[in-house]
Amino acid sequence: MVTVARWTQRTGSLVIIAKRIKPLRRRTEPVPWHITDSQINTPTARRKISAARILVPATAAIPATYCWRDSWLTGFDSVFALLSKFALLNGLTARELATLVVSTRCQGRTRLLDELDLDLRDSAVIDRNKLVRLFHTNAQVISRGFVLDTFPVRPSECAKVLRYCPDCLTFGWHFSLFQLTFVHRCPIHQLVLRDFCAACKTRVPYRLAASAFDNPFICSHCQADFAPSLGEP
Ligand SMILES: [Zn+2]
Ligand SMILES: [Zn+2]
Repeated sequence: MVTVARWTQRTGSLVIIAKRIKPLRRRTEPVPWHITDSQINTPTARRKISAARILVPATAAIPATYCWRDSWLTGFDSVFALLSKFALLNGLTARELATLVVSTRCQGRTRLLDELDLDLRDSAVIDRNKLVRLFHTNAQVISRGFVLDTFPVRPSECAKVLRYCPDCLTFGWHFSLFQLTFVHRCPIHQLVLRDFCAACKTRVPYRLAASAFDNPFICSHCQADFAPSLGEP
């Protein structure tokens, strides 16, 4: 007797085929071909599944996907904020994140990934089209994330450490505008921008580096949480 159960997750991307090789005992009721989420969590359904061998056919490749929350995109986020939120949602290390977003056409890519210390003020080594896809947005929004791509300023006018409004960062908001050294206050909250952790005075490099991205929005020195609101449901 062969039974095939097809279960589709909410994403609709996963199909599991169960083949029952040998029944444990004679059954009078038919085993359902389709098992829903509610059915699969009943004791009866679990017994039926435990009697089956789960086979995932080699031809049914499951595409790799990443999590993203469109509600976390303001349309004006800096690339620092976007990458931090993305790493947080997907549990990525700084190295995994860099491997994902550094352009494959970039010269010296292997060395850059080894050094893991990428300037986020411009998009010189970043695959911007990849960011468009990962963040479900468009090229204009991604371009706004890079301060040197957006504003006609010199590199010396863009801070090399994170400058932020504490009230904005609570919600995971950070805008490339804050990196301009001649901007001193948040235009939303009128608070003076900070360039250090309020708890321990450590500065956060404005770079894709382990110190800033292995624990996104967490001070690498004192573990202070810069964006506690992101952890709320
Ligand atoms: Zn603010
Ligand atoms: Zn700190």
